[in-house]
Amino acid sequence: MIKGCLTERRINKKVLEDMYRDGFLYATFGEYFRRSHGYEIFKVPMNAEFTCPNWDGRLSNKGCIYCPNLAKQFTYESFRRVIGDGLRAQLKDQVAYYKNKGAGDKGLVYLAFGTNTYKPVDELKEIFDLALNHPDVVGLSIGTRPDCLPKEVLNLLGGYVKEGYEIWLELGQQSVHYHTTNRINRQHGLSESINAVNEARKRGILTLIFLIFGLPYETPQEVIETAKVVSQMNVDAVKLYPCLVMKDTRLAKDYSNGKYRPISRREYIKTIVDFLENVSPHMLIQRISKDCGLDGKIVPNWNTHRFIVGPEVEKIMELRNTRQGSKYNIGLDVEELSPLS
Ligand code: SF4
Repeated sequence: MIKGCLTERRINKKVLEDMYRDGFLYATFGEYFRRSHGYEIFKVPMNAEFTCPNWDGRLSNKGCIYCPNLAKQFTYESFRRVIGDGLRAQLKDQVAYYKNKGAGDKGLVYLAFGTNTYKPVDELKEIFDLALNHPDVVGLSIGTRPDCLPKEVLNLLGGYVKEGYEIWLELGQQSVHYHTTNRINRQHGLSESINAVNEARKRGILTLIFLIFGLPYETPQEVIETAKVVSQMNVDAVKLYPCLVMKDTRLAKDYSNGKYRPISRREYIKTIVDFLENVSPHMLIQRISKDCGLDGKIVPNWNTHRFIVGPEVEKIMELRNTRQGSKYNIGLDVEELSPLS
């Protein structure tokens, strides 16, 4: 567990600067944790059967256009093994699975499917307490919508931070541009994420923002703007995915009707590099591609595994002689403000 006052729980810039000095081109999450915590951390994905207000009719009953509603499908083999045995068995099974695989020393329980703060606060407490009571678990990483974080839930999470647990909120935002969030039926805009990040920060909760590249009608230039906006929001980490067309989604219909063209491998690599160059050097990059939960993928038909995407991204960055944040710049330098002659 992490000791110290809440303000010490921000990302440690000195660790990141050492990483860049040692040749890292971007701030990888795993390496940062090794250096800052002194042990290997692994994420333990769990399905606590949360629904989502974008599926259950509260906001809409259609979901985001790319969402296959995985919480209802139990896609992963490990989840199938423990269905019916309850959450405790799932936790035990998942932690043992990742430890036996040699994934790391301590686990961060990742509540991954659906909107994982969308239950009454006493039910949330039961789930979170259960996870945090496992001897190999040091914290939680909670995937949720930025508009599903009432004060009681934030206070509950802030309480765990005070006890010394590592608490992350993984906020689905996908794009900072309203025309995109509207087009993909997120049913929220950017202001909800700004509020969630600010409220989390007050309580020492770390924040990560999910972003998807290749969304309908979004341009590469808009992705650069997204990099700058999330940097100015002072989020602690981002997770970057290509837009996947999954079976039984509305995006699959758009694709089969010729209304949506998936992002190519070349476009995706270039977009990731542009994003990394234009994002703050003090933000962690947890993922740069998608390599699990691909069972129902239709397209893109290239291999999105991080072991394929990662080296290609680094190759382009080396060719361009850049690293994370090398183009991150908000506003003009003072010298540049003098009138043009
Ligand atoms: S907010 Fe998440 S769970 Fe809900 S519909 Fe969108 S992608 Fe699916």
